[in-house]
Amino acid sequence: MKRNIKPFDRPVYVTRPILPDIKEFSKRLKAICDSRLFTNIGAQHVLLEKELVRTLGVPNLSLFNNGTIALIAACQSLRLSGEAITTPFTFPATTHVLAWNNIKPVFCDIDPLTMNIDANKIESMITPNTTAILAVHVFGTPCNVSKIRQIADRYGLKVIYDAAHAFGSEINGKGIGNYGDISMFSFHATKLFHTAEGGALAVKTKRLKQRIDLIKNHGIKNEDQVVMPGINGKMSELQAALGLVILPYIDEEQKKRQRIAIAYGSLFKDVEGIKLPYMAKGVKNSLQYYVIRIDKNAFGKSRDFVHERLKRFNVFTRKYFHPLCSDYSCYKELPSASPSNLNVAQKISKEVLSLPFYGDLSLDDVERICSIIKGMRD
Ligand SMILES: *Cc1c(COP(=O)(O)O)cnc(C)c1O
Repeated sequence: MKRNIKPFDRPVYVTRPILPDIKEFSKRLKAICDSRLFTNIGAQHVLLEKELVRTLGVPNLSLFNNGTIALIAACQSLRLSGEAITTPFTFPATTHVLAWNNIKPVFCDIDPLTMNIDANKIESMITPNTTAILAVHVFGTPCNVSKIRQIADRYGLKVIYDAAHAFGSEINGKGIGNYGDISMFSFHATKLFHTAEGGALAVKTKRLKQRIDLIKNHGIKNEDQVVMPGINGKMSELQAALGLVILPYIDEEQKKRQRIAIAYGSLFKDVEGIKLPYMAKGVKNSLQYYVIRIDKNAFGKSRDFVHERLKRFNVFTRKYFHPLCSDYSCYKELPSASPSNLNVAQKISKEVLSLPFYGDLSLDDVERICSIIKGMRD
């Protein structure tokens, strides 16, 4: 252990939300107060939807109060039932959403490089009850969208992407929200673009957007007709106003994060036992998280050791994603949750560590974090 590196005098977390310009935000808040319209698809909501269609380069988009409700509504809008093939290497919401729709999650192992669902293993998990594939663009890295499309077409399955990490990710210049039947974005405060709480569904057809807009507003079609069992998924005017004020800062935030990613990459480049994030060719990554993998044997210390020891230095990393969803008590009895079905995911969830990653993190701090970690080897 090197003894000369001092702990940070303030806690350093994995992320820090982008702050709005208070003056701009106040202007919008005043407009909301003047209108007395705090929710129900007001001016801010309409404008943010329009801006995000442009930013994300998607044909249609529907805002929600959070990403989880959006994903629940997505399953409802496609009338999914039976089973859905999904990944265990994700945030709890992905699997819980299936449970809330009375759909049985079928866990498929992940790809060792991208850490996304392994498209080559999906086919073997299909049964007569399968209606959908629910995949996640983990850490903003796109799934194998063409292979997933092929399988879905061959078996008549719907495809939903949890794109919660993938705001602004692109494949060969095409927005990530254009793949699958529906893509869900989360605007939680920990996400790159945020509205404190919030989310959206990007959808292929106008018709499907209309159905989703009904679902998120209790199924109310007009004064005299309620046409389906909807839910309250509406984004409020306050959230939409925050989003409108934050949206212009995303480009700059991504540029800063790019510099930090390059710094981490060069500082860790030759460290045995530390694997850097995978960057595919032709892909623009959202830069939502910076996740390294620590191979205990090669590095000499485990991920858990590094995670714990960093706390002494006031650095709070996250084990994204550990535990696997398939190991939660509510899902572990499912046949597909068996660790022998999920070898790659089991291994990777013990290795991943999400490091501090946000625009305001200085390059000096990045260097200090790297030195602390490297110092743990001896
Ligand atoms: C954040 C997140 C969600 C949930 O989004 P909320 O807006 O917090 O409800 C779902 N899936 C993944 C992978 C996430 O990271």
